[in-house]
Amino acid sequence: MKLNKNAGLTTATRVVLLTAVYFLGGLLGKQTSFLSGSMALVWPPAGIALAAILLFGYRFWPGVALGACLFSLMNGVPLGFFTLGTAIGNTMGAVVCTFLLRRAVGFDNAMERTRDAVGFIGLACFLGTTVNAAFNVVSLAYAGAVRWPDLFPTVLEWWVPNALAAMVVAPLILAWGTRSALRWRPRLVIEAAICGIGLIVGTLISFQSWFVYGIQNYPLAYLPFPFLVWGSLRFGQRGATTGTLLVSALAIHSLLGRRGPFVTTLERDSLMLMGSYIGILAVTNMLLAAGAAERRQAECDLSASEKRYRAVVEDQTDLICRFKPDGELTFVNGAYCRFRGKAEAELLGTDFLQTLGEKDRDVPLSYFQSLPEQKPTVAFDHRVVEADERVVWQQYVVRRLFPARGEKPEFQAVIQDVTERKQTEDALRQAKAEAEGANRAKSQFLANMSHELRTPLNAIIGFSEILADRTFGDMNARQSKYVNNILGSGRHLLQLINDILDLSKVEAGKLELARAAFSVESAVTNVQTIVKSLAAKKGLAITVQAGADVGQIFADEAKFKQILYNLLSNAVKFTLPGGTIEVKATRETEVELHPGREAMFGLSGACLLTRVTDTGIGIDPRDHERIFREFEQVDSSYGRQQQGTGLGLALTKRLVELHGGSIWVESEGIEGKGSRFSFMLPLPPLRANGEPTCGNGQESGAETVCGAAKKA
Ligand code: ADP
Repeated sequence: MKLNKNAGLTTATRVVLLTAVYFLGGLLGKQTSFLSGSMALVWPPAGIALAAILLFGYRFWPGVALGACLFSLMNGVPLGFFTLGTAIGNTMGAVVCTFLLRRAVGFDNAMERTRDAVGFIGLACFLGTTVNAAFNVVSLAYAGAVRWPDLFPTVLEWWVPNALAAMVVAPLILAWGTRSALRWRPRLVIEAAICGIGLIVGTLISFQSWFVYGIQNYPLAYLPFPFLVWGSLRFGQRGATTGTLLVSALAIHSLLGRRGPFVTTLERDSLMLMGSYIGILAVTNMLLAAGAAERRQAECDLSASEKRYRAVVEDQTDLICRFKPDGELTFVNGAYCRFRGKAEAELLGTDFLQTLGEKDRDVPLSYFQSLPEQKPTVAFDHRVVEADERVVWQQYVVRRLFPARGEKPEFQAVIQDVTERKQTEDALRQAKAEAEGANRAKSQFLANMSHELRTPLNAIIGFSEILADRTFGDMNARQSKYVNNILGSGRHLLQLINDILDLSKVEAGKLELARAAFSVESAVTNVQTIVKSLAAKKGLAITVQAGADVGQIFADEAKFKQILYNLLSNAVKFTLPGGTIEVKATRETEVELHPGREAMFGLSGACLLTRVTDTGIGIDPRDHERIFREFEQVDSSYGRQQQGTGLGLALTKRLVELHGGSIWVESEGIEGKGSRFSFMLPLPPLRANGEPTCGNGQESGAETVCGAAKKA
């Protein structure tokens, strides 16, 4: 989290501000320096530079460089190698530290994760400051300001104030310059105030020799620690860094007045003692605060996720519970409580079964124990009779929970009210049974009626034929026309009755196919012979292509002929005189015919394709589906003259489907261009010996037509 970079100020203004703050930090450091003003214990500008680059970005480096130059110049150091060296050293220090922190740690300025604090201490406080100090001192040595033999002690002297600045000043600015996850509620503010006061008092006792006046080096330096730990744990990085600052400032102030436990005869020793002290407490605080914040966050995340999971269970309308092997309830959700009409506390500890009525206790409790790990759930429906004799059906899904080490075995049940589903299922079952009964009755009625109608009808047809045949010469043209009309109507009626009967049988599932192997060629020729005379009357030519190579198929021969007859007689009916009709039977693979419909037969994909093509009046594409439905006739002027039942194609389609096949029509609906009816019957794969795999027709529903291996 960074501060808003453009909070009303331009970058240039900010750079100037940074220069000024850096410069002021330098003055403060100089004010509090030791060894006759030559060494500050904490060098604030180093911390300011680092925090500024971390907070505002790399482009603020000129602020650091300018501040460093300015400070050197103001202190009488001429602009030259040394001044530029320190400026570059300080700028590089902050920039390189920022780079390393972002790259290696993915540093977050709030430092509310342990990794940020550890990374900051390692990379910024130690590595970065060491590089910075070494760079500065070496440039000093080049400038002749430091003797080469004194290089190492000088680096150390340079490093300590820089490192302490990185530990005390930079984290303080970062903590207050970044948004913290901590919510400052009034109680927390009061607690912070008490902690702060304790900290100040403790530090004053330790370093200003309060109460123990006279014993100057009384080793009470650790008195502020409990307050520091308190602050770090409770108030995040802001608490930790502010605490560190307070103690450091008061301690340094005391040391300047030569008071407190770290005063020794040698000032340099005192500085090192004080430096270690501040360093240790700063690092400890930073780590504590980060750890505590991280923990708080983890607890928050955990409780949020727990809340979410709890809501999933609680918001269910299903009853959820857990129970021990003996049935003792250990968990119930809200829905469970509502269903049982009891509070959670009343239910826990009671028997899972006890809440069920006496007659409902056939839940197989002991069976749950035997559920294996691979399939630990069992589902069953359970009938519960309520107090008011109302029957409720519940579906139980019981899962055996396999305990981890140290846990007790338990079971979990999810119980759903399925009364409605049960009722629907029952109603459906009953409706189905009723429908079947009604269908049976209907088809029986139709069969009886057809039978009753057929006998007198046959008589009408028979006598009309006799009339037409034998007494033709005795009748005048009018009379013979009447006889022929009676004959035609009778035949039409007979056809209609037969079709109705067949259809009703198919509907009732009563039509059984009598499958046997037969030759396609002879079946087709046979049908053609029947239709030929009709066709000849209209001057239509019928050609047949069903060579011996098509061989035998295994199907109901009579039904096959009926299908073909229906298609052929339609073709004859709807083709104008002089047209042609073509019948063609071939072996095909279904895939080639209907890409994307491979799955239909699931067999070899081999099938017998029979096509009846005419040059008749055609069928409008909009009617292609309609004509396969019962009593659907297309209303064309030519069609109206043709007597039909509107049942032929409906029955034909059913017969094809009974064989597991399909039928379709292709036509543009243009007179003279005609139409093409195709039907396809599936063929099972052949055995190695060349016989069809469904020799007896029993093997599978779809394997109803066999490839003819045995050539006729
Ligand atoms: P119908 O007994 O009336 O012929 P079908 O079910 O056999 O009844 O046919 C339904 C309708 O489909 C017919 O009335 C006709 O309009 C149309 N039809 C069937 N076959 C052909 C064809 N080959 N050419 C043109 N129209 C046809």
